[in-house]
Amino acid sequence: MDFWKTSRALFHAGCFERIGMFKLSKKVQSLPPYLFLEIDKAKRKARAEGRDIIDLGIGDPDQPTPKFIIDALSQAALDPANHRYALDQGMPVLRSAIVDWYKQRFNVNLNPETEVLPLIGSKEGIAHFPLAFLNPGDFSLVPDPCYPPYKGGTILAGGKPYLMPLLEENSFLPDLKKIPFSVRRKARIIFVNYPNNPTGACAGKDFYTELIKFSTKNKLIIISDLAYSEMVYDGYRPPSILELPGAKDVAIEFHSLSKTYNMTGWRIGWACGNAQLVAALAKVKSNIDSGIFSAIQVAGVAALRSNQDYINKMCQLYQQRRNALVSGLSRLGWKVNKPKATFYVWIKIPPKADAISFAAHLLKEANIVATPGVGFGQYGQGYIRMALTVSEERIKEALARIEKIS
Ligand SMILES: *Cc1c(COP(=O)(O)O)cnc(C)c1O
Repeated sequence: MDFWKTSRALFHAGCFERIGMFKLSKKVQSLPPYLFLEIDKAKRKARAEGRDIIDLGIGDPDQPTPKFIIDALSQAALDPANHRYALDQGMPVLRSAIVDWYKQRFNVNLNPETEVLPLIGSKEGIAHFPLAFLNPGDFSLVPDPCYPPYKGGTILAGGKPYLMPLLEENSFLPDLKKIPFSVRRKARIIFVNYPNNPTGACAGKDFYTELIKFSTKNKLIIISDLAYSEMVYDGYRPPSILELPGAKDVAIEFHSLSKTYNMTGWRIGWACGNAQLVAALAKVKSNIDSGIFSAIQVAGVAALRSNQDYINKMCQLYQQRRNALVSGLSRLGWKVNKPKATFYVWIKIPPKADAISFAAHLLKEANIVATPGVGFGQYGQGYIRMALTVSEERIKEALARIEKIS
């Protein structure tokens, strides 16, 4: 079999019982199918046909990593001390830069020895964390729609995702009261992610207060994914759950340099919060990986210790794009949620329309890629997600094309 066919089959492994003569594990069989690969395939095909595609599909910054961070990496890469295995728990300079950043940004105190763990991107930490706490049959409470590793990590750990619908009528917050007592008893973990991918929704301190109360009562671990805390508009400042009383007894927060500093390809993030939860994740990881390339950690320190002007500029750029897209679509009569944070716009499609067919229609007729909401879970049906990762000019071009086919 040729290489691409084989790798494609592996990507789709979630849909198959076996690959060739080899039967897949039950866990891998029960992973949700990977819709994004299908979209990518359709996009490549359209590009190969010479069509001018506007890609609003992927949540990956289009701007380069700032030069001062690249310079820090280049310097650090020349130092042989950085060529060896990194420390599992991350370099002390990085842990203390993270502690200082949290203090400055959220006024949260963290112990750099026990309450901070650098990660090879926050995704791997989020996906590995359930291995530390789930036994077969245990639930984790997962928002739907959501960032896929919450479900994937749960399933690979032998657990079962229990879906908490994120509905517009609840401002895309989970309704904790609706979770049945039978589920609460068997649940170990609850995932939350605000500012939210894919809906762009935000949560206030009152939500976190209720969540901490609920989790303490039900002996649940809170995983707060704060990847988008710095990608914000109109002066909005999202809180960290760790700002709230009692949070450190039950919560671990995941953060990342990926979106804040245009460093998605570099792979650097961290977990912080409750020391026992951090230690448990460190124990899992010590059996799986051997830390982040030290030169990247040094570059991460440069990013976190820089003055944050660069972030303000980035937010201004996305804010202009957001305004252009949201006002343009609203003018065309589309129902759009204007996000206060993240680079995603979550758009309602006509009632009864199917999200995948709608996205396929946009690609076929207007050469625009958008992500069908169902790619993030069943409650994403009825929506598509557009990412603000192309220039304002291209956004205007996309709007003109949409107007033409409406
Ligand atoms: C992009 C993103 C992350 C960051 O992942 P990294 O592995 O740190 O690059 C985490 N959570 C969500 C919801 C995201 O969209």
